[in-house]
Amino acid sequence: MSPVIPLIAERSEGCATPAVIKQRGQREVFCGLTGIVWLHRKIQDAFFLVVGSRTCAHLIQSAAGVMIFAEPRFATAIIDERDLAGLADANTELDRVVTQLLARRPDIKMLFLVGSCPSEVIKLDLSRAAARLSQTFSPNVRILNYSGSGIETTFTQGEDACLASLVPQLPHTDERNLLVVGALADVVEAQFRRLFDELGIGPVHFLPPRNSRELPPVGPNTKLLIAQPFLADTLRALEARGAQRLSAPFPFGAEGTTEWLRAAWNAWGRQQTEPTKFANVVGPKRERAARALARQRLELQGKRIFFFPDSQLEVPLARFLARELGVVLVEVGSPYLHAKLLDRELALLPAGTQLSEGQDVERQLDRCRAAKPDIVVCGLGLANPLEAEGMTTKWSIELVFSPVHGFEQASDLAGLFTRPLDRRTRLVA
Ligand code: SF4
Repeated sequence: MSPVIPLIAERSEGCATPAVIKQRGQREVFCGLTGIVWLHRKIQDAFFLVVGSRTCAHLIQSAAGVMIFAEPRFATAIIDERDLAGLADANTELDRVVTQLLARRPDIKMLFLVGSCPSEVIKLDLSRAAARLSQTFSPNVRILNYSGSGIETTFTQGEDACLASLVPQLPHTDERNLLVVGALADVVEAQFRRLFDELGIGPVHFLPPRNSRELPPVGPNTKLLIAQPFLADTLRALEARGAQRLSAPFPFGAEGTTEWLRAAWNAWGRQQTEPTKFANVVGPKRERAARALARQRLELQGKRIFFFPDSQLEVPLARFLARELGVVLVEVGSPYLHAKLLDRELALLPAGTQLSEGQDVERQLDRCRAAKPDIVVCGLGLANPLEAEGMTTKWSIELVFSPVHGFEQASDLAGLFTRPLDRRTRLVA
């Protein structure tokens, strides 16, 4: 379990010591298998084999099924009653399924065995299975494992577990380099690459890579720019390889993106030799993003928002909405509040912002109903009932699936919050 901010039961003053409601009750959050939906599109020669039940298969299929055209790069090896009853050797079955799969799909160069609740219940050791199968299929196919089980992970922690499993595979380097950590849409990755080129920062690598044969190198001279706030385990694994995190807000909105880039700029130590370069390269892009946001600020200014805990993007998004769009934060819930990863974000929240960590869903629903926010950010399971009660909701999963990082996406990110409000206005009319 990742370390979290020390918690206090109710409110405290100021954002250096944020007001946090601690919750450890029933939660309404997807499990970590969901990450496969975007990870399989990112690492284009990888395959994700969930070792799970029909429920797991349905979850993945319904979350990603609309994108299956020909050969999907994820599947579920179903643990059935015979396995659960111990009548079949699950390891033998798994070896058979993997052998069949790799014989049929020579395009697969990296195979993730993804653990689930059922594989944990029958104590199937997927790390041993991955080591055993690697002996057979290496070097053609790299076989790794991680857990996406709902017992151990929430929603975006699946990506964290997947990337953390990749870290031991990364080659060593002593060269100074920048590693951007977290799955980004290809278009966003290309934009950031251009910006780093213009700033003269490099070499720059991205984790996860688009191809499993191009794993980024890491070592004591690697600086880390973390692009997603839910990668605590991956960060810890990279730091154990000697890399150092650059403390920065996350690249959401004009301000967050500027400060995120500035962290790399400062680390490259170019301020003295080229004092105006950062402003010359980044300034126009920041201004263009701010101009686009000014229009949406007219719609969002003064609107009250309530975040249920789901993706761990909640704190950076709340900072963006409050500071750049004038949105009022009623409550900002997150499954976990990682003190280290959120160090710069928490300091930027308006003083007195009510945070909550974890969930006790009924009590949180009571607080939400009492507060009557203009918009609620929550998971799919809560959205429909809340809409039926007359509230306006935004699915938090959409904020993870959409390209929302960087200057050019800042306006699209704000649009994800204006659209539900527009829709509600039209429905009322
Ligand atoms: S891993 Fe667990 S929570 Fe996730 S779909 Fe499978 S059974 Fe459900």
